[in-house]
Amino acid sequence: MVLMQKHKRTTLALFAIFLLLSACSSNQPADLPTPTEQIFLTLPVTDTPAAPTETPLPTNTPFPTLERAKYTLNTNIDYDAHTVTVDQIILYPNLTGNQLNALVLAVTPNLWDGSFSLTSLAIDGEPVTTYTLDGQRLDISLASLLPAGSTIEIKLKYTLTLPFAEQEDPNVSRPRIYGYTSRQVNLVNWYPFVVPYINGEWILHDPWFYGEHLVYDSADYEVNLKFADPATTPIVAASGVPEALPDGSTRYTITSARSFALAASRDFQTSSTVVGDVALTSYYFPFSEAGGQAALQASAQALQVYGARYGAYTHKSLAIVMGDFNDGMEYSAFYYLSKDFYNLYDGTPANYLTFVAVHETAHQWWFEQVANDQALQPWLDESLATYSERVYYENTYPDLVSWWWSYRIDFYKPEGFVDIPIYEGQGFRPYTNATYFQGAYFLEKIRQRIGDEAFFAFVQDYLNQGRGKIVTANDFFNILRSHTGTDVSDLINQYFRSVYQ
Ligand SMILES: [Zn+2]
Repeated sequence: MVLMQKHKRTTLALFAIFLLLSACSSNQPADLPTPTEQIFLTLPVTDTPAAPTETPLPTNTPFPTLERAKYTLNTNIDYDAHTVTVDQIILYPNLTGNQLNALVLAVTPNLWDGSFSLTSLAIDGEPVTTYTLDGQRLDISLASLLPAGSTIEIKLKYTLTLPFAEQEDPNVSRPRIYGYTSRQVNLVNWYPFVVPYINGEWILHDPWFYGEHLVYDSADYEVNLKFADPATTPIVAASGVPEALPDGSTRYTITSARSFALAASRDFQTSSTVVGDVALTSYYFPFSEAGGQAALQASAQALQVYGARYGAYTHKSLAIVMGDFNDGMEYSAFYYLSKDFYNLYDGTPANYLTFVAVHETAHQWWFEQVANDQALQPWLDESLATYSERVYYENTYPDLVSWWWSYRIDFYKPEGFVDIPIYEGQGFRPYTNATYFQGAYFLEKIRQRIGDEAFFAFVQDYLNQGRGKIVTANDFFNILRSHTGTDVSDLINQYFRSVYQ
């Protein structure tokens, strides 16, 4: 994620708005979902999952074990009514190593009052009533134990009533994405998904005022998309590669992805290019063509630079999407750039549009391929994505590297420990100073200390070992230490509050 930030060289009045958006506030914004918000369905529920000893073992399991979960989302969007109906099937392989008597799914649309309406829920073909939906958390207790290595089928039918997401009053809220504006529908984290199960715990953190709180296993997605009114179908940007079906619907597929995002607008204009076997498409609103082309160009360059420096991009498409909010945000094979970056684009690569575009592109490695706990260890993806901006400039516009350091990083005089969770950031500015900018300083100093060869060998190894997984800070430092005998403990002590031996 990258928000537009206050900067001394900019005099546009817009920045007063950005300041307000980014400002630390101790008050709960009026329309931010509160972590304690609880929305209960009226269907029968039980409080706790059945104890394992009371649950019979199944005699067989009908599905072969999958390498990862498979999500099929048969989706019908009524663009003008701002509603989405979904028939969803999750094939969930139990790769936890434990037998499970319950499942936990994240249902983030339920953080918005009245947005999520569950019609039915079935497990392996049997209707389920033994569940609770509490805020974003759906607990399902299983009628029979799910042995390690077995696969279960979860079927859900639900309707989304999209919230109006335009921000008329910048004092009220952080930027938010899920919902609709006058010219755009944005579906992010819009379907229930099984959260990771790590060390005996389901990982589902509370949302926060800034930063991301969700943690994702990788999964395969098939999204079959129809619009209620085929005559006025909007232009769609999505994670995954589209395929037109005979009935007029479109099927999108993506494998080993962290999420599936979708944006639709009747106003989108598009521009495309190809890097190797990857199709990049930029989606932008009228009067933003220069910015739309520049974002496409920067992403294409970044794909080549990171492909050479880190390792291959793993998907076949990348959507670059202009968003009606003040935020850049990464999803699988898809990222948003704020409309404000386009408005301020000056025709040169020395601006927010370019460095945020390549930052979000870098998340296709750090977030998408190598995932982390975004709430508790956000620095793992954000420091690498920020430092990747530097890697982009040094390979593409080397004369701009010193500008980038001073404009992007040094100006804010960043301080603080890199390894804070989102909840301890003390405001957006101190949070990004620590996790993004101190993180970039740390990586620069490590690179200077151990040399380019060892540094990039480390980064490539970190990618190879972490691809498809959720890594931790310990993994990061263990892999780093395997690539250098040089003592870097003073740098770790300077930038990190945790001790990493
Ligand atoms: Zn980021």
